[in-house]
Amino acid sequence: MHLVAIGGSDAGISAALRARELDPSVDATVVVADSYPNFSICGIPYYFSREVQPWQSLAHRTHADLEATGMNLRLNTLATGIDVDGRTLTVRDAAGTESTIAYDELMVGTGASPSTAGIAGLDRFGPDDGVHLLHSMGDTFALERYLDEHQPETAIIVGAGYVGLEMAEALTVRGLRVTQLQRGPEVLSTLDPELGSLVHDELTRHGVEVVTGTRIQSVTRDGGRLTVTGTRDAHAFSRSADLVLVVVGVRPNTSLLTAAGATTGAGGAVVVDEHMRTGLPNVWAAGDGVVTHHRLLGVTYLPLGTTAHKQGRVAGENAIGGNARFAGSLGTQVVKVFEVVAARTGLRDDEALAAGYSAQSHTAIADDHKRYYPGATPISIRITGDTRDGRLLGAQLVGTRGAEISKRVDTYATALHHGMTVGGMSDLDLSYTPPLGSPWDAVQVAAQAWEHEVRLVAAGV
Ligand SMILES: Cc1cc2nc3c(=O)[nH]c(=O)nc-3n(C[C@H](O)[C@H](O)[C@H](O)COP(=O)(O)OP(=O)(O)OC[C@H]3O[C@@H](n4cnc5c(N)ncnc54)[C@H](O)[C@@H]3O)c2cc1C
Repeated sequence: MHLVAIGGSDAGISAALRARELDPSVDATVVVADSYPNFSICGIPYYFSREVQPWQSLAHRTHADLEATGMNLRLNTLATGIDVDGRTLTVRDAAGTESTIAYDELMVGTGASPSTAGIAGLDRFGPDDGVHLLHSMGDTFALERYLDEHQPETAIIVGAGYVGLEMAEALTVRGLRVTQLQRGPEVLSTLDPELGSLVHDELTRHGVEVVTGTRIQSVTRDGGRLTVTGTRDAHAFSRSADLVLVVVGVRPNTSLLTAAGATTGAGGAVVVDEHMRTGLPNVWAAGDGVVTHHRLLGVTYLPLGTTAHKQGRVAGENAIGGNARFAGSLGTQVVKVFEVVAARTGLRDDEALAAGYSAQSHTAIADDHKRYYPGATPISIRITGDTRDGRLLGAQLVGTRGAEISKRVDTYATALHHGMTVGGMSDLDLSYTPPLGSPWDAVQVAAQAWEHEVRLVAAGV
């Protein structure tokens, strides 16, 4: 059995590792376009903040670790075509030489590329022009080189999603004056604006200028000065800086699979079933290039590293004859912005209503631990539930870095995974000691506040 995985990031490596773990007799080859297999691109912002040095430490596993698992790595090798009937992959090496690799099973984990959100002219810029996207180690080296060689004093970050926010922190720590531009009404649009505003405040507190409601249409360069232009609240907007970083989401890399006959669906990603089958014989796919099965929404597109790892593992197991199933995402995510942490899982009000739930949301503020013990800090928790049956639909949390926001959102994620009601959260036997929590943990206080609010609304109070 020869399993070939395309892509050396979360999905491709997870598939090869799982296949080799379950059956060490499997011959596994991983074809990777660059020379950085199994790098944690999620850690890139911490390389820029210099908290993680050198860049080699970003590797989840070293080249030697990977080879020790028995997989065969073909680095600097671009997969260019799939012959489904002939079970052959065409590849091109760094010297431009084409060759073929025969496979029994193929797993495609080609991921995603940075989106440009329709901003004109970005492809005119070279690596020394100061206009950057950020997704790969190659992008990382290009930006680091620009920072070193040009010592920019000011930066514009287009986009205030989690990567944009992490980079706003990193560049501020590096001494740049950062302006963050966001299209929507508030930063971190994955949260409701009332919680996103807490993240906004933290950015401002650290000197980041945040400009919301801004749609950027083009970037131009005049001498060493870069200017972004667009509109803000229907008026012309422009701003100049020494560096422009565009981080406005990703688009799935689908061309290999669609050329081979696969279909695309949500978000333009390749359609797979919960077993990671593409519909093409002996061809599996996983990660940011494919649709996401969501436990509350059905099929959507929600690219995350956590999901890519799980889908890749499922694909690797099934490619060698297993029957694993991706249990579905809840879109659980968390981001640290300076000293604040923001997290969410499941659905917000508007998403839940659009999906046909009878949603109601309520925000409560609860201390992370007993107030009499030093250092207690408030956590804002917004719960969304279904008023028909009390089912928990989602939770958003914002609090300080020490307030265990990520593990608290995971409590909600676990409850959501098991279809619990908001009221059922109060029955959970959660841990307590005064320096770390309360007899009713903050997640339960917020759940009880949601129930109370629902009763008041139902009573017309
Ligand atoms: C800065 C940053 C921070 C992030 N932080 C988080 C986080 O905190 N939490 C989280 O859950 N997610 C995070 N993500 C998202 C996460 O990194 C991605 O969801 C994840 O990497 C997707 O993995 P993937 O294997 O599907 O694809 P990708 O990581 O996109 O990798 C695709 C792989 O395929 C290779 N490839 C592509 N085309 C070809 C080809 N034709 N031939 C050969 N090889 C090819 C590429 O070289 C690469 O190795 C972050 C992303 C970025 C950019």
